Amino acid sequence: GTAATAVEEPPIRPDVKIDYNQILINGQFLDSASGKTFPTYDPRTEEVIAHVAEGDAEDIDRAVAAARQAFDNGPWRKMTAYERSRIINQCADIVEKHNDEIAMLETLDNGKTYEQASKIEIPTVVRILRYYAGWPDKIHGLVVPADGPHHVQIMHEAIGVAGQIIPWNFPLLMLAWKVGPALACGNTIVMKTAEQTPLSALYVAKLFHDAGLPPGVLNIVSGFGPTAGAALASHTDVDKVAFTGSTATGKIILELAAKSNLKQVTLELGGKSPFIVCEDADVDEAVELAHFALFFNQGQCCCAGSRTFVHESIYDEFVEKSKARALRRVVGDPFKTGVEQGPQIDDLQFKKILGCIKSGVESGATLETGGGRFGNKGFYVQPTIFSNVKDEMFIAKEEIFGPVQSILKFKDINEVIQRSNASRYGLAAGVFTQNIDTANTLSRSLRVGTVWVNCFDIFDAAIPFGGFKMSGQGREKGIDSLKNYLQVKSVVTSLKNPAW
Ligand code: NAD
Repeated sequence: GTAATAVEEPPIRPDVKIDYNQILINGQFLDSASGKTFPTYDPRTEEVIAHVAEGDAEDIDRAVAAARQAFDNGPWRKMTAYERSRIINQCADIVEKHNDEIAMLETLDNGKTYEQASKIEIPTVVRILRYYAGWPDKIHGLVVPADGPHHVQIMHEAIGVAGQIIPWNFPLLMLAWKVGPALACGNTIVMKTAEQTPLSALYVAKLFHDAGLPPGVLNIVSGFGPTAGAALASHTDVDKVAFTGSTATGKIILELAAKSNLKQVTLELGGKSPFIVCEDADVDEAVELAHFALFFNQGQCCCAGSRTFVHESIYDEFVEKSKARALRRVVGDPFKTGVEQGPQIDDLQFKKILGCIKSGVESGATLETGGGRFGNKGFYVQPTIFSNVKDEMFIAKEEIFGPVQSILKFKDINEVIQRSNASRYGLAAGVFTQNIDTANTLSRSLRVGTVWVNCFDIFDAAIPFGGFKMSGQGREKGIDSLKNYLQVKSVVTSLKNPAW
């Protein structure tokens, strides 16, 4: 069985108070217009943590009006780029100062391990904010030559009010990826957080205001997708919408944008990323990296390496060792040191994952280990491994978004390229080989937005991230994400004296 038994023990009570559970508009915490609230749950215990103000269309209206006012008339767009840069840096500093309590809130609401939240994610949020704090005074246009007697300037201006809709798997990291570039370019924001994880964004947005962010620049509305989310995506006073979540919802967002005001859209959607282990690989290292690529964050990653392709010459050894590794995976209370895997986000995902496992068994894949619930309380799933997985099986085609690894066998490079690309998704891929020619061939052939060679899940601030095909449109992080938040304006002026 799996090593940990921590879920049988009483859950650790984190030393954290829920200070903010209302909607944040124009720097003020308010109840929702309807007065309604919704519960957010601790996935370890399935108990309610807090009731949070539930935003709907009327609250989105109020938040958009505040963001519009702040954009059109507030200090944000008019201040110098250097001042904006300093404020974003101050936001980074204050998050860094409150690292541990923010991480506790994130673990409590999401179920991810406290070690991961406190040592990786919140520091990454700080790093992303500092990266974007460096941009405001480096965003500038061009002067281009004209054929006639004209002086031509190309200006890069903020788009205006950005609507941002984020998921629950990395609540604050998704906030940082979206808020960072939007603020750097001088936009104002209405963010709709995921209904499963509303708490950390409210806390951090309050800190941003303490750090000097002017009111109305970042407004946060908690609530559900078809109500608050759809209202934001359809709002005619929103100039741009950025979304991260499922491909099915991404299609709805694009449709709502088209039907309302043709606001610009960027989408960060699902994936079924291949992780390719070539015949020359050190099997122990490959097993560990493939395990990380799939099981990280309870398997709840859009880029999870969820199709582990292994060369036939090392397949049996790889499966055996992957099974041993999964059996060693420490599942339990995510607040406990040494725990590698906490609960899934909620009952819906928990049941969906168990359904996927059932489908794997029914379709004839070999269940090597796991396959069921872990413990008897909370949304814990046993680390699960299937071998003999075939391309046409549901578990090889659809996102599972859970701790379920599917191991497939391949014979040669051309075959694995063709099979990897035979997916409607194209988010990421992992390649594990010592052969530089194999690495280059795979990197150039795979139709995905990110290829990690002998590494996985490297998310530096300057590296653009996003999908080919139905994994999305546009890129986040890096220089590319700035384009999502800038309009290009050409100014053509007649020249009286072309010689000058
Ligand atoms: P989702 O796409 O439904 O939710 C993501 C966000 O979109 C949430 O804030 C949600 O409230 C909002 N939303 C939902 N319906 C909406 C609508 N009609 N209009 C506007 N906004 C809407 O994802 P989910 O239901 O939380 O998870 C389902 C699946 O999505 C997962 O199993 C996984 O496959 C995928 N997912 C992907 C990511 C990612 O990072 N790409 C993150 C979370 C989930």
